[in-house]
Order: sequence, then C-alpha cells, then structure tokens
Amino acid sequence: MTTSAPSPSVSFADLGLSQPTLNALQNVQFEKPSPIQAAFIPLAMSGVDCIGQAHTGTGKTAAFVLPLLERLDFDNRAVQALVLAPTRELSEQIATECKRLSYSSMCRSVCIVGGRPIRSQINELEKGVQVAIGTPGRVIDLIERGCLRLDQLQVVILDEADRMLDIGFRPDIEKILRRCPTERQTMLLSATLPEPVERLANRYMKSPQKVDCSTNGIAVKTVEQYYLTVDEDRKMETLAKLLLDQRPQQVLVFLRTKRGADRLHARFARKLPDVAILHGDLPQTHRDKVMKAFRAGEVRMLIATDVVGRGIDISGISHIINYDVPEYCDDYVHRVGRTGRLSSDEKGYAFTFVTRDQGEQLTNIELRIDTMLPEYRIPAYESARPKEKRAEWTGGFSNSPNM
Ligand code: ADP
Ligand code: MG
Repeated sequence: MTTSAPSPSVSFADLGLSQPTLNALQNVQFEKPSPIQAAFIPLAMSGVDCIGQAHTGTGKTAAFVLPLLERLDFDNRAVQALVLAPTRELSEQIATECKRLSYSSMCRSVCIVGGRPIRSQINELEKGVQVAIGTPGRVIDLIERGCLRLDQLQVVILDEADRMLDIGFRPDIEKILRRCPTERQTMLLSATLPEPVERLANRYMKSPQKVDCSTNGIAVKTVEQYYLTVDEDRKMETLAKLLLDQRPQQVLVFLRTKRGADRLHARFARKLPDVAILHGDLPQTHRDKVMKAFRAGEVRMLIATDVVGRGIDISGISHIINYDVPEYCDDYVHRVGRTGRLSSDEKGYAFTFVTRDQGEQLTNIELRIDTMLPEYRIPAYESARPKEKRAEWTGGFSNSPNM
C-alpha cells in the first residue's frame, strides 16, 4: 500500500508524539513536520514495517528517529534499535540528529563505524546503549566479537536503502538481518527506490506500507554534472584544458583555501585580463568591485572560496568548476546551485576535480545529491598527456578567442 502525503497543515502534535518529544522539537526549532515526516511518523509509530521515500534534504532522518525514540525503554541498557547507513558521515549525522531529538538526552547511542577506534565503540557498548548506528562492516565485526548483542532488538532501520541493498552491501545486510530477532519492526528510508530494490526489500519486511513523497519535491535538473579524474599536481593544466574545451560564458571556480585561490589567480591573471578573485581576506571594497564586474560580464572567470562564493547569484554563470572537492557535501549543493539559473532554457554545467584518493568524497557527494556523476574526459587531452609536456597550457589558453 502506498500512502500519499497528508495536508501540509499537520502539526507535530497531531502525529501522536509524546510531550517530551514535542518539547525537544521545539528546542531544535522544528516548527512543522515535512511531508515525509507527517506521513511516515504515524505509520512507523503504529509498529508496522514501512518504507519512506522522499528527496534528499526533506527530513527523512527525523522521520525515523522520532518514532524510534518514542518506543525505547530508557531503563533498559540493551540495544533496542539498529540503524544501518552506507557511510561514516551519514552514520555520524544520524547519531547527531538522534542526540538532538532525544528529550533531555535520555537516549544512549553509539556510532559503530570503520576508520574510528574500535575500542571506544566497544566501551560504549559495554556501558550500555539503546541505539546502535553504523556501517555494515563494523557492525558485523562487533556482532561477531560478541560486543553487539541484538537479542532485545525491536527496530531495524536501513537509511539510504537503495545503497544498502545494492550489490555491494547486500551480503552484509543479509548477514546482519539474519542475526536480528524475527519479531521486529523494519523501516527503510531512501530518496530513490528502484523496482528491484523494492522487491528485494519485501524479502526482509512483513507487508510493508509505503509512503512516497518523491513526486512532490523539487530537484534541480538543469545542471549537467560531471567529475574529472585529476592529478593533484596537474590541476592547473587540467583547468586550462577544460576551459578551452568548454569555452564557458562565465565560470566560477571554487577552491577550499584562500591560499590556493591566490596561487591559482596569480597563475591565470598573468595571462588573462578577465580573471578575478574573491575570498574573505580581501577588503570589502575590492570584493564589491569584483562582484560588480562579474555581474556586468567584464569578469569571465571568478576564483572563489566557499564562504564568499555561496551567496553569488548571477544569471550569466554557465559553468561551475570545483577545483577542489568541497569539504562538506552541502557545499557541493550550494556551489552547483550557482548555475542552472539561466532564464532561458540554457543548461548549466558543473565539473568536479577528483584525485584518485578522493573516491569516498565523491561517493558522499553522490549520496547527497542522489545522482551518480559521470566522468568527463577532455577530448584530445586524454590521448596525449605525457608528463613532460606540462607548460603548454598557458599559451593555448590565452590564445583562445573566447577566454
Ligand atoms: P534527508 O535524510 O531527507 O536527506 P535530513 O534528515 O538530513 O534529510 O534533513 C535535512 C535537514 O533538515 C537537517 O538539517 C534537519 O535537521 C532538518 N530538518 C528535518 N526536519 C525538519 C523540520 N521538520 N523542520 C525544520 N528542519 C528540519
Ligand atoms: Mg538522509
């Protein structure tokens, strides 16, 4: 069964949440439930298995965390809920949301993720927690060591269920679910739910009820997004080639640090008159001047850091280049949101430079935007890029009629 979203006038109090939880919601200033929360929370609180689908950023975490908190027995230090997520960052985010929404911090939780010391996770488990949140690998590890006991488990949640049930994680998930009591509630949350994933999900759930809010959201579809595999020490060269290849109307280049931005600007400004830089250390008068020139189209390429770049809203920007992978996934969304706003039906383009050891960061971005980014290969560059031929770009770029 699929339920559609209830009317937006519903309040948290209407959803059957307890007074302490309502107080916690007031503390974190959640005024009204989002559509997925309004539809999913009552269903989850009824104890049935359920699937919630809604776009990224629509509050799916609280949609499962609130019902989960409502059913915990705080006098019992045994693990009663297990939340599985595909990455460390997501697990940690869920743990944070759990703490924020748990009234008077009664809920004890532990984040069980790889890449962090296992000892402290074991210590937390030994002290007793009600909620375990983590990635499948480490969860299995701790189950097998006998540190994570699931005999009193009541709820299992798979967040980002499409990822969790894709081929990479599936054996781990099956292994974990086999260790969970059969008398339990299972919840699945995801932004996308392809047919095969849904069919598979049914194997682990008992007549699940589905809430689908994914048809009434907004998704930015006007930006074509790609990543490029780059060598750290050849980024400038790649940027020059990409500019030649793309000939952007106006381009905003994002870097993580002011120093990096200065360095890049120094290199490009020598060759091009229409390049400018914007970061937090520059005096306001300079920043205003640059923005004015960029808005007027006199500056074709603006090099900026996240903090300053965030507010920029200029219709002529055709290209965003993430010269450095953004430090936070949300920054990616903010950066890329700078284009694709052209008033005509012209598209925006976003390119993200990724070095070979930044695969996980790329995956995190893809999870955040619910899209797999295709790789872009600059034509005529891939075939001929011997290491010795480094310096060529400057001349080529400045001779370009368009930049
Ligand atoms: P999703 O999992 O759907 O991508 P999140 O659960 O990460 O979305 O929520 C996105 C952001 O919205 C978080 O910062 C969260 O704290 C906030 N948020 C969630 N629900 C509400 C609400 N009802 N009111 C205000 N902010 C909310
Ligand atoms: Mg989420």
